[in-house]
Amino acid sequence: MKTLDDLRFDNRFARLGDTFSTRVLPQPLDDPQLVVASADALALLDLDPAVADDPRLVQIASGAALWSEAEPRAMVYSGHQFGSYNPRLGDGRGLLLGEVINDAGEHWDLHLKGAGSTPYSRMGDGRAVLRSSIREFLASEHLHALGIPSSRALCVTGSDTVVYRERPERGAMLMRLAHSHVRFGHFEYFYYTRQHEALRTLLDHVVQWHYPDCLEHPEPYTFFFRAVLERTAAMIARWQAYGFCHGVMNTDNMSILGITFDFGPYAFLDDFDARFICNHSDDSGRYSFENQVPIAHWNLAALAQALTPFVEVERLRASMDLFLPLYEAEWLDLMRRRLGFTLAQEGDKALVQRLLQLMQGSAVDYTRFFRELGEHAPEAALQRLRNEFVDLAGFDAWAAEYRARSEAEGGDQADRQARMAQVNPRYILRNYLAQQAIEAAEAGDYAPVRELHRVLSRPFDEQPGMERYAERPPEWGKHLEISCSS
Ligand code: AMP
Ligand code: MG
Repeated sequence: MKTLDDLRFDNRFARLGDTFSTRVLPQPLDDPQLVVASADALALLDLDPAVADDPRLVQIASGAALWSEAEPRAMVYSGHQFGSYNPRLGDGRGLLLGEVINDAGEHWDLHLKGAGSTPYSRMGDGRAVLRSSIREFLASEHLHALGIPSSRALCVTGSDTVVYRERPERGAMLMRLAHSHVRFGHFEYFYYTRQHEALRTLLDHVVQWHYPDCLEHPEPYTFFFRAVLERTAAMIARWQAYGFCHGVMNTDNMSILGITFDFGPYAFLDDFDARFICNHSDDSGRYSFENQVPIAHWNLAALAQALTPFVEVERLRASMDLFLPLYEAEWLDLMRRRLGFTLAQEGDKALVQRLLQLMQGSAVDYTRFFRELGEHAPEAALQRLRNEFVDLAGFDAWAAEYRARSEAEGGDQADRQARMAQVNPRYILRNYLAQQAIEAAEAGDYAPVRELHRVLSRPFDEQPGMERYAERPPEWGKHLEISCSS
């Protein structure tokens, strides 16, 4: 196990030079304090969990100190925001500190979000607030624990620095980890500024370090796009299966690695609602829950456009056509497992869709439904869940089919229940739970956010004494308005 002094750096992205990023030093926060740290994320860097108590972590994670091998850089990118092209975005309030190599030989980007202004800050102050930093921290670690690919979070530091949003708030920083911070928008930036040489350099960089299998292929770039599309489809399938709503699927928030990235006004569904819009500023519902599938496809088309100097359009189009079938296969596979099935059968898709239709408008809690379905034999479970539905006749018809489908598979009841408990979380990051922990943290009490993080990092396990986190949300908790300002 390592200490902070033992980390080794290999800053591959920084070495690409000033065309791709700008050297900027972090601007420290006043009187920093550690709010919460993730032992699981520390372990990715082979760091001892006790590093969370090392005062130097707070110094580094609040911009007051730097490893000698770190080379902080702000990356340039652009992107489509709510469907319109914004030619210049970039790291306006985050810095890539460097790339750590762990003992397994993996590279991890260390990114400090909220580190102060950069050449890409535009009108912004370069800061992040405690509220949004805690939200990103909780979500990254929880999604990972659910099996949803995501960037990771090492720690959040709070401070006495005042940051002005709709009201004065406490400034904070989030230390984020990912194998890469390259976004779809990086490619768009070099494409739309007609810097095709730089575009090729970026492409080669990403292929070499993150998609090396493509180099075995006769058309590496064609295969690369296909691989990004496959990973994105798999990620979206998991979002939809678990009820995760990202909220700001702009192309600058889409990771080239197909991991969930840049958390803003996200939410997990409480009651199932396909049309749920978690972003209070998204008036048209562009990024509603059900639109995430076509929007991911749209975003992939924006990436494909940026690759046209190097890949034939027909090739890109052929890959684009694979998105929906790939997405659907992944989604259906996970939904089948959530229902306790092990075999794929004709009619499964219709069975899942009918269940979601019955849930729509019935105020059925999405997470609890599946967990409870797996806690008893089908007959008993269905009987208990029946009362939650408005269309009882519709539910009874569905339940008869579900029972028949389960019986046809046979198998042991205990196995079924154990299997279902491994894919259906007991605990989910509900907005109101995050909100309660944030309010405590804003008042200086970090115990609730630490406890919530601990519970959510083992979402499938029964955790005696933590039952309150698994309860149905209170009515007020279902209608929190989460704004984009962070
Ligand atoms: P986001 O909505 O966090 O994905 O950010 C979109 C763009 O705005 C990115 O280029 C960010 O770096 C930039 N940005 C967001 N908030 C700030 C801020 N407070 N100061 C400077 N830039 C910001
Ligand atoms: Mg962003």
